[in-house]
Amino acid sequence: MRSSEASRIYFDRAADQLDLSDNMRRLLLTAKREVQVQIPVEMDSGDVATFIGYRVQHNSARGPMKGGLRYHPQVDLEEVRSLAALMTWKTAVVNIPYGGAKGGISLDPSKMSPRELERITRRFVDAIHDLFGPDVDIPAPDMGTTPDVMAWIMNQYGKYHGFSPACVTGKPVEYHGIPGRDEATGRGVGSLTLKLLSRLGRKIAGTSVAIQGFGNVGSHTAKFLHDAECRIVAISDAFGGFHRTEGLDVLELFRYSNSHSGRLEGFSGGDHMTNAELLALDCDVLIPAALGGVLTQENARAVRAPIIVEAANAPIQPEADLILDELGIVVLPDILANAGGVTASWFEWVQNRQYYQWGINRVRQELDRILGEAFEQVWQLSTSRKVTPRTAAYMLGVGRVGRATVLGGIQ
Ligand code: NAD
Repeated sequence: MRSSEASRIYFDRAADQLDLSDNMRRLLLTAKREVQVQIPVEMDSGDVATFIGYRVQHNSARGPMKGGLRYHPQVDLEEVRSLAALMTWKTAVVNIPYGGAKGGISLDPSKMSPRELERITRRFVDAIHDLFGPDVDIPAPDMGTTPDVMAWIMNQYGKYHGFSPACVTGKPVEYHGIPGRDEATGRGVGSLTLKLLSRLGRKIAGTSVAIQGFGNVGSHTAKFLHDAECRIVAISDAFGGFHRTEGLDVLELFRYSNSHSGRLEGFSGGDHMTNAELLALDCDVLIPAALGGVLTQENARAVRAPIIVEAANAPIQPEADLILDELGIVVLPDILANAGGVTASWFEWVQNRQYYQWGINRVRQELDRILGEAFEQVWQLSTSRKVTPRTAAYMLGVGRVGRATVLGGIQ
């Protein structure tokens, strides 16, 4: 099942609970604007290659649209469209004044030189610079794009519109980015996991946690929970995982990964395990923080953790979601669990607009506050309406966008 079909199922469940009319459903599901542009670029070899770039601006009822820019060979309009809608619900769940958007270029960044990527990025900005900007639509990093790419976007946009650091977020800290953005998604996943444990009446110290993925999100989640005295009993990356019942040495994992090009292969501080074994590990909390769609109707019944926190986008397929619910497993959904990144992006935009700098402590404090409030609202709705936290999160997000649409008026 494609991610677009999955998010449509979750939208429909929430819309049924909210008793939304068919007209409102259609309005909320339709993108405000979809753009596809041609990007012809001269490659290092002297050949001219033509790429296709997309930007989908889904909804602006609650504010300027916000969402990442993805460089990946499988990027297409349908995927970008569904990710844009997901951003609309995500920004609404955490109640930050944004709508949702997403963009991408179909290419494999690992096969390009930095200069080629820069030319492609600048050419893409040339094609769409009139369609985005600080008050309209603010791109950010996503799969395959880095803070460097965001710096090129800001610089190229500035050639048309003057100095506008708030036109894009996720920039390098030395180039109008902010400290704390890098860790924000993982920190958010970690702090929300602690809130969930408390709500469920579980002890935090000693809680056993298995995390799939040791990239940006997985590594910062591991560090946060390790600092909170949880036991990180298993960690994996694309090449396999490691297990230690007493808890892995997370700082050693960081050191190892930093000195091995981000890979954990060969780490000697734990027993080797496969990614499939990690997902079925007997532990207190399972955190998929790598790919989408890893829990399916084939492997959902093997899950033994009573709590799953979705750090990755859509790691659980809808059929698996139903099975996990039936098994009594509590799932904290992606649109809340990994919203720390977009929340910190908002802080970057706010500071850029004010030509002011907060410092890391304020970033962390505000992040914890906003995510904490969103968690409480989702939890209350979930218990009062007797729906899963996922349906409650969608109800909150979709409901807020619907109300803003009505209050703003259609004419
Ligand atoms: P990343 O590229 O930094 O790290 C991905 C990790 O997953 C790596 O450790 C990689 O080895 C591992 N991985 C890749 N393929 C795998 C496989 N087949 N099996 C197991 N592990 C595999 O990515 P990231 O930024 O940490 O993002 C992870 C997830 O979180 C993605 O779903 C992303 O969309 C989502 N997300 C990220 C952010 C953010 O701010 N970075 C925000 C919201 C959501």
